Amino acid sequence: MLMNYRYQEYLNNMNLNELTIKEAADGLKNGKFTSVDLTEACLKRIKERNSELNAFITVCEKTALDEAKKADKIIADGNGKLLTGIPFAVKDAICTADVRSTGAAKILDNYVPSFEATVIKKIRKQGAVLVGKTNCDAFGHGASNENSMYGPVHNPHDLKKVAGGSSGGAAAALADNQCIFSIAEDTGGSIRQPASFCGVVGLRPSYGRNSRYGIMPMASSLDTVGPMAKTVEDVALLMEVMAGQDDLDATTVSDKVDCYLKELEKPINGMIVGVPKEYFEAEGMDKETKEIIEKQIDLLKSRGCKIKEVSLPYTKYAVATYYVLVPSEDSSNLARLDGIRYGVRADAKNLFDVYAKSRAQGFPEEVKRRILIGTYALSAGYYDAYYKKAQQVRTLIKNDFDKVFKQVDVLVVPTSPFPAFDIGSKSKDPMVLYLSDVFLSPAAIAGVPGLSVPAGKTANGLPVGVQIIGPRIGESEIMRIGHNLMK
Ligand code: GLN
Repeated sequence: MLMNYRYQEYLNNMNLNELTIKEAADGLKNGKFTSVDLTEACLKRIKERNSELNAFITVCEKTALDEAKKADKIIADGNGKLLTGIPFAVKDAICTADVRSTGAAKILDNYVPSFEATVIKKIRKQGAVLVGKTNCDAFGHGASNENSMYGPVHNPHDLKKVAGGSSGGAAAALADNQCIFSIAEDTGGSIRQPASFCGVVGLRPSYGRNSRYGIMPMASSLDTVGPMAKTVEDVALLMEVMAGQDDLDATTVSDKVDCYLKELEKPINGMIVGVPKEYFEAEGMDKETKEIIEKQIDLLKSRGCKIKEVSLPYTKYAVATYYVLVPSEDSSNLARLDGIRYGVRADAKNLFDVYAKSRAQGFPEEVKRRILIGTYALSAGYYDAYYKKAQQVRTLIKNDFDKVFKQVDVLVVPTSPFPAFDIGSKSKDPMVLYLSDVFLSPAAIAGVPGLSVPAGKTANGLPVGVQIIGPRIGESEIMRIGHNLMK
């Protein structure tokens, strides 16, 4: 039953697109409204706002309404599932069958996949309604959504600010109630950071927890796909649908998928929360952000958690390690985009020019930079000095987490050292932007899960997220803490 306080708000004219998954599903089940009503509300919001926010690259107006009608019939027949009839959006770097998937790069401007990413297949099998594909940094390369060839995404809390990246569109669309949930990809922060900047919940699952099949690969040994939603409860519900081993992705793991929703209700009393000092001493750390996170730690203490100061000494090498590993894997993965096999082919006289021109015109600067760095780092003369060295440091970073999770259940840290910044303020110097990943790349390198949950707002009204990091396959624990913090 939809008996909570937001239902009352809905009765008092709250818009349908503002509901959470749980509320929307209850309303659909109880015949309060239809999936067509819900989908129309989201599409209307997209129409009103997309020219300002630029959160969507493709809007699926017609197919969404058809899917909604089908969902209404399934619900009327009593066969509705958790997500039947719920409108959602997908990052454009994730392949959706028969729906254009550009990865926010012009080289794939006309690319319509014939297949579906496994996680999307699972979600759509439940009857969820795809309203569109969201803007992002091209192929996930960035932390501000300014590396999209379709223009930057504007933060719904302040249009002058970035929405975060790379999944800025997925976070902004959700925060602006243009969909009920969204699905995105996190290689080194792309779910957590935009979730933090836009004030929504975002989960980077453990590496291998969710299938990567059908995700445009960036750095295959770090890529993950996860949900963004308005509450931790919705994220838990989505993970129950998304998680699990997949024959199409050999890196998925066989660990049992928890009943995440039930796990949320377990007490947090007695849990040991680690506070790593390295995450509070970073250069350029914003004072207000730090205070907001410290308040969250106090809150956990007051609710019976034991707070323990810990150290992850290799944290300071994480960004440097990340920016050797990722471009290396990137340069190899992006080789498939050559103007021959997929997408847009440039006009050219000979084969070499087809490759060269298609890639020159179809990739933004940041993608080219990473291809160059990665090709260099993998080359015969430099492999040992860069890629191999970075892999060795990766092990040290992972060992840091392994050691600390022998002492604590979860870690609580800021998601980002600062809130959303002005569009254009960091994009001129790629190094400045890379450094904003400081609290995001360590967990990604180690393959452990991280959840960003809204923790408060700055005096200027910008959201700040708190990040809860857990051990491998510790999704239940981090969501339990996150759920508790949002209460
Ligand atoms: N800021 C990171 C990068 O640019 C985020 C990438 C990601 O998670 N897709 O590599």
